[in-house]
Amino acid sequence: MRLVLVGPPGAGKGTQAEIIAERLGIPKISTGDIFRANVSGGTPLGLKAKEYMDAGDLVPDEVTNEMVADRLAQDDAADGFLLDGYPRNTEQAKVLDGILKAAGAELDLALELVASDDEVVRRLSGRRVSKSTGKVYHLEFDPPADPDSDDLYQRSDDRPETIKNRLKVYAEQTAPLVGYYEAQGKLVEIDAIGEVDEVTARALTAIGAAE
Ligand code: ADP
Ligand code: ADP
Repeated sequence: MRLVLVGPPGAGKGTQAEIIAERLGIPKISTGDIFRANVSGGTPLGLKAKEYMDAGDLVPDEVTNEMVADRLAQDDAADGFLLDGYPRNTEQAKVLDGILKAAGAELDLALELVASDDEVVRRLSGRRVSKSTGKVYHLEFDPPADPDSDDLYQRSDDRPETIKNRLKVYAEQTAPLVGYYEAQGKLVEIDAIGEVDEVTARALTAIGAAE
């Protein structure tokens, strides 16, 4: 199954992608995670991406598309994948369609996680990440054992000023993707409000993989 996950920052894409990809036995490919790993590693790709990420802007398409094309060319993605956070504008969606077409494949579905601005701001503000395991917590909704632990950090783009710009970028550049996939008959809207398990169940039902 070839899937993409669309939705505003904080909607729960990463959380759901992890669970759904495991359930379906396909790799989860998160462009945000790949960028962050490159920023921490100080690679040339990380250096290119950092200033855009810090500002909450999109990393330029040519950088992002090349990175995704390389990742999709790896063996584990040959029969299926779940993309989390890509595409993020219509141009990227067209490039993805082209990459798949060249490989004789096509996207199956685009899952849209739907959540209000108020809810995503609440989710982003309380998001904390474990340095040692990468696990994503929420101070209120999925609290870590010790909220004061040195192992936890807040993503620098989860601060209020940057959140505001990310929501603007989503509305202006990413939301039009919904229409793009709707026109292809591939869009599935999923209500992202509720417990993590409930949202997963809705997503699995929508893709016909419910147990
Ligand atoms: P969130 O999960 O909160 O939506 P991500 O981890 O997906 O955030 O992305 C973090 C940042 O990485 C984005 O604000 C952007 O700067 C960059 N980024 C991730 N994916 C893309 C993409 N497909 N195109 C351009 N920039 C991206
Ligand atoms: P995204 O990848 O879309 O930016 P995340 O999966 O990182 O979103 O989730 C954002 C924050 O919201 C995290 O702190 C996560 O623990 C929390 N979260 C995810 N799903 C839910 C949910 N269904 N209810 C409440 N909080 C959630």
